[in-house]
Amino acid sequence: MKKQTCSFCGSSKEETNLLIAGIDAQICDNCTQQAYTIVQDELDVKAKPKSEKNKFALPSHITPQAIKEYLDQYIIGQSEAKKYMSVAVHNHFKRLKQVDIDEVEIEKSNILFVGETGTGKTLLAKTIAKFLNVPFTIVDATVFTEAGYVGEDVESMLSRLLQSCDFDVEAAEKGIVYIDEIDKVARKSDNPSITRDVSGEGVQQALLKMLEGADVLVPPQGGRKHPEQQMVKINTKNILFICGGAFAGIDKIIARRLNTQVIGYRADAEEVDNENLLQYINHTDLKGFGLIPELLGRLPVLTFLNPLTQSTLVSILTEPKNALIKQYTKLFALEDVELKFNQNVFEYIADTSIDLKLGARGLRTILEAILTDAMFEIPSQENIKEFVVDLAYAKGQISKSKLSKLKVA
Ligand code: ADP
Repeated sequence: MKKQTCSFCGSSKEETNLLIAGIDAQICDNCTQQAYTIVQDELDVKAKPKSEKNKFALPSHITPQAIKEYLDQYIIGQSEAKKYMSVAVHNHFKRLKQVDIDEVEIEKSNILFVGETGTGKTLLAKTIAKFLNVPFTIVDATVFTEAGYVGEDVESMLSRLLQSCDFDVEAAEKGIVYIDEIDKVARKSDNPSITRDVSGEGVQQALLKMLEGADVLVPPQGGRKHPEQQMVKINTKNILFICGGAFAGIDKIIARRLNTQVIGYRADAEEVDNENLLQYINHTDLKGFGLIPELLGRLPVLTFLNPLTQSTLVSILTEPKNALIKQYTKLFALEDVELKFNQNVFEYIADTSIDLKLGARGLRTILEAILTDAMFEIPSQENIKEFVVDLAYAKGQISKSKLSKLKVA
């Protein structure tokens, strides 16, 4: 007689509590329950009207402090950027809620983050969108060109926003778009008449209307590949745009300005922290870098992110709600193994990431290099209750990994 097994998960009759027989298939109690949940979820989604499907409910009363406290759970340091962002978002909500349009119209508070790569710009934008429960998308400014040239039109960022919320226009109109690498669309030369600057100033010009608020016709599938698709109209008046960029070399522009400013005022001038000039950034510096004044005018909130130091990197490794160390500890715990680290290993990981110029992004790569052997071997070993990573082990693993070859002399 054929062995009785569940036709869905393959469990034998002995492994289940109940095996229900059909015409020529069986299903176990476990799969029945799962199937029930799936059916319920599907019916639920179908039953809800579209506007309820993506319930992007805006928090009824949020204070800037509450926003910052939420950000603190996920993002280490960067208190200045968090504060600016919390106030900007709070004001954005006040603006969304204003019903009486008298002569005082609150303008949009689009944000511009300046900070080295890997310091948390994208993470800040992503985390705020999660907190607000609004549609969110990340786009890279480098893919855009002025309409009519090879590349993407700026409207495509709204296609992505629309896709992120299952084409719910009403929700998308309250979403957040994070435009990364905005520094890459800086004007290429001081003399724009030499060649047409279609991917620099051209893109900045194209962004103006969208950032300020306008009705934009958007191809829902994005790109120019589907010329037959019906365009969707999206009003960007209430979409919050957050731009970020590393602006490599802007420190020289800031330094030059600070030097010229202090002439004659040296006696009472505040001492300048040359190690972190970004903290003094202003809109003039960005203009000097090649952003056009009209664009800067539409990004009124300007703030910076600090470079990551060893101690910040150690905190990033261990403290946030979903810190990497917590994640790996959980992975080991699922094998009933307690993962432990000596404190100096955290410092070593942070230093290695700084040495390799990987920033916070490198922490995961380094941890993988240290732990892959253990993660490969432990599941097939018995009686291992704990695994301790000490400095010697961590160094040994890194030196035999590909990472050590990355080291710049
Ligand atoms: P960028 O500034 O280049 O946009 P990201 O926000 O993408 O950098 O950061 C890359 C990764 O590094 C994030 O996903 C996060 O894991 C980590 N990270 C960077 N900065 C921080 C921070 N301040 N706090 C916690 N994690 C951070």
